[in-house]
Amino acid sequence: MSETPRHDDPFAVAQQQFDMVAERLHLDDGMRQILRWPCRELTTTFPVIMDDGSTRVFTGYRVQHNLARGPAKGGIRYSPQVTLNEVRALAMWMTWKCAVVNIPFGGAKGGVCCDPKALSRKELERLTRRFTTEISILIGPTSDIPAPDMYTDAQVMAWIMDTYSMHKGYSVPGVVTGKPLSVGGSHGRREATGRGCFFTIANAMRHLGLDLTQATAVVQGFGNAGSVVARLLAEAGCKVVAVSDSQGGIYNPRGLPVAEVLACKQDKGSVVDFPEGERLSNAELLELPCTILVPAALENQLTAANAPRVRARLVVEAANGPTTPEADAIFEERGILVVPDILANAGGVTVSYFEWVQNLQEFRWKEEQVNRQLKEIMDESFAHVLAIATREKVSLRLAAYMLGVGRVVQATNDRGIYP
Ligand code: NAD
Repeated sequence: MSETPRHDDPFAVAQQQFDMVAERLHLDDGMRQILRWPCRELTTTFPVIMDDGSTRVFTGYRVQHNLARGPAKGGIRYSPQVTLNEVRALAMWMTWKCAVVNIPFGGAKGGVCCDPKALSRKELERLTRRFTTEISILIGPTSDIPAPDMYTDAQVMAWIMDTYSMHKGYSVPGVVTGKPLSVGGSHGRREATGRGCFFTIANAMRHLGLDLTQATAVVQGFGNAGSVVARLLAEAGCKVVAVSDSQGGIYNPRGLPVAEVLACKQDKGSVVDFPEGERLSNAELLELPCTILVPAALENQLTAANAPRVRARLVVEAANGPTTPEADAIFEERGILVVPDILANAGGVTVSYFEWVQNLQEFRWKEEQVNRQLKEIMDESFAHVLAIATREKVSLRLAAYMLGVGRVVQATNDRGIYP
């Protein structure tokens, strides 16, 4: 087993989680070494011409963790906090996530260390196009397919698709997912992470014997993932009492009008500008009494420091890596059920897979078909993970890892080691 990892190092956390499941699955040392590390990493330092004519240099990463089950798949994030170890962790989680929902991809992730809010649209476009060119030796529709993540959206994906296609001399929609519909995007992709997370919450609530219409929810992070979860929960009759973004949160114990909060965020830039409700910090928000807590922002939000004060019955990880292993242990002891990220937020990559399939088939599915097949996969995966958790008497996280890692081990063994 590894040493106790630093909470602020997501890759150390990801490796510790892997070590726990490796132990449980009795993996031999060779297999542990294969799966503990990314198989390929690219670091690029590249120049971008800014609007004022000056040149700025940015650092970006593309990490492929494992390719045993298919082409690499994983988002690209733009954030000042991006580090190689963060991208490594996210790439590893993608490997297990794709395997948990049994889609034929390996895991990857990318990121550029930048403050996207401080860049103009033109600067963002030039940064994206240059970064795409730098990582073009790795990406491609049969090798490595990026997607949106924090602070990247359909527009950024369209620039990636266009840049890659310009180099090829013909359009290659399948190089990236999460694109606008006009260039081969899929119906339902933008909402898929939140929708998949909502299906997972419904399954977890049923398992606990709780009724969504009698429940309250708190959502940290009101972006692509969090805002959709909040909206779908509200539409299902659940009272969403607090939401937040990077500026802070708002709280109303009687329930927030989620659609209006979303309109305010789109209009004014932050949920804290919403005129109703009490303002509170992100730290305070995580400790509010509620039935369902949905961290949908960043890693390492639920730690040994605040886990004893969390007053939720159910934690559903829309974000990647929001709970440290220490917090996980505290939740288990306190009887708080945690649905892990590699299951709860797998809806995004699942519909990315549907988008990629549609691109390869040069065919388009209706939104109803996308959402129905997403629900089928999320429901089946939840049932599969729950069955392992019950049989092995382990947490849902360990069960999801046993399923995901087990499938990657099987593929690795079946393929053998080349040469
Ligand atoms: P996003 O950029 O659309 O939204 C992020 C939200 O988090 C924004 O509202 C932002 O203001 C808020 N935020 C940033 N810092 C915060 C802080 N310190 N406290 C509270 N809120 C903060 O990003 P997203 O795509 O919704 O991603 C959110 C999380 O979901 C990430 O962990 C990401 O890896 C994960 N995720 C996203 C997808 C997807 O398809 N978009 C898929 C799987 C997992």
